[in-house]
Amino acid sequence: MNTFLPTPTADTKFFWEATQNKELKFQKCRNCGHVRWPASIACPECHSFDFEYVISKGIGKIYSFVVYNVAFHEAFKQNLPYVVAIIELEEGPHILSNVITNNPAELRCEMPVKIIWESYENYNIPKFKPFEN
Ligand SMILES: [Zn+2]
Repeated sequence: MNTFLPTPTADTKFFWEATQNKELKFQKCRNCGHVRWPASIACPECHSFDFEYVISKGIGKIYSFVVYNVAFHEAFKQNLPYVVAIIELEEGPHILSNVITNNPAELRCEMPVKIIWESYENYNIPKFKPFEN
């Protein structure tokens, strides 16, 4: 294994099952409409337990990012330099991921990004790349 793979829990099982179909699936509150991540039993905005699932379009923007020139872990050395970013999705959730680029110096906060999928063993891992509107 040359990378870290997720460890689904009872709370995140639905999310990782959806990634098998290359879908980003989130809980959306039926009371107030808030789309939440991480998964939770109740809405963090209104405390309602009532929710439905929505599939994200996988479009968002870079909320914040850091360029790693020294690997956080030996497993990531082959990817240097690599970018770890918080992506603000159009639907609202902020997710931690990587931005894949040959030129990390071009990245800026607010830059539009879209999802790409990288497959490792039995997982499709959501990552992002810059794109022009
Ligand atoms: Zn709510």
